[in-house]
Amino acid sequence: MRLEDVELPDPGPHQVVVKEFASGICHSQLHTIHGRRNTDIVLGHEATGEVVAVGDEVDHVGLGDRVILTFQPRNLRDTDRMPWMADLELAGGDVAKSANIFTWSTHTIADDQYLIPLPPGTPTDVTSIVGCAVLTGAGAVLRAAEVQPGQSVAVWGVGGVGLNAVAAARMAGADPIIAVDLDDDKLANAERFGATHTVNATRDDAAKRIRDLTPGPSDAFGFRGAPIAGVDFAFDVVANQQTFTEAFNATRNSRNAVHGGGTTVVVGVPTGGDFQLPALSMLMNERRVMGTIGGTAMPEQDIPRFLEWYRNGDLDLDALVTSRVGLDEINEATKLLEDGKVLGRTIIEFD
Ligand SMILES: [Zn+2]
Repeated sequence: MRLEDVELPDPGPHQVVVKEFASGICHSQLHTIHGRRNTDIVLGHEATGEVVAVGDEVDHVGLGDRVILTFQPRNLRDTDRMPWMADLELAGGDVAKSANIFTWSTHTIADDQYLIPLPPGTPTDVTSIVGCAVLTGAGAVLRAAEVQPGQSVAVWGVGGVGLNAVAAARMAGADPIIAVDLDDDKLANAERFGATHTVNATRDDAAKRIRDLTPGPSDAFGFRGAPIAGVDFAFDVVANQQTFTEAFNATRNSRNAVHGGGTTVVVGVPTGGDFQLPALSMLMNERRVMGTIGGTAMPEQDIPRFLEWYRNGDLDLDALVTSRVGLDEINEATKLLEDGKVLGRTIIEFD
């Protein structure tokens, strides 16, 4: 990545220019960095900032307002308009593209669909990770899976997104909440966010351990007399073949026509090609698999709720943000993330 000075663009009718306070560094950006591309790209998809210019058609935020930037449209139910995917003219005349928004920059320009007002008095640093880490992790639990009180949950990968899935599972009343990771420090951290049990997959067979922790009634049996065990929901925030298979095998098997099998929810970005899936087990145990992008969240409704959790002490954003850098340290910061050295989330703070 390189830093470049560019001319601040003027907003179109549905666009907003924002001077940023802070932006999170999301793991999924590593895939974008290493992926193929045809043009220059601008990165980052979660931030906070202050509105410095607004287009004529923008009515939900105004000049001087503080906002949260997210890559998930705030509400497409009430409009047919396709939101603009931000791009940026570079000094040499080339155009750098984004995936909806870009935030690793002192200023940004975005479609109004990607901004949510930040209530006055709310800290602007740690809330910069609400737009992706919180939205994706908590949204996966509340919106995609719609976890109900008393349901059992396991989460693979308890970094920035996974910790939010754990916290949301606690808010949803899930029990047990089992965190799975390869790193004992991350697992200990997950307990602070609501994990009732932890499994280190370098030492334990994660699926077996989870099935031991979640037995069904002793008189209940599934297909061909198999004892019932496993979680209602397995959230795969890592999304590689190994974590996917562990998660799938940790989901509950069905009890014929009494209840179905558990669901594996793919939350992370799978990058290693297609997964193999134990198809016979899916059939016999009536297990389900689903994907979710951005937690299937509706930011207009969900971000105010997550900010309320933060205000009430139910979502410890201050503990989720575990390191802070300047924009000129962006390459070093993404390298640390790549090496697994970031406990929660790193944020970039701007002057
Ligand atoms: Zn992200």
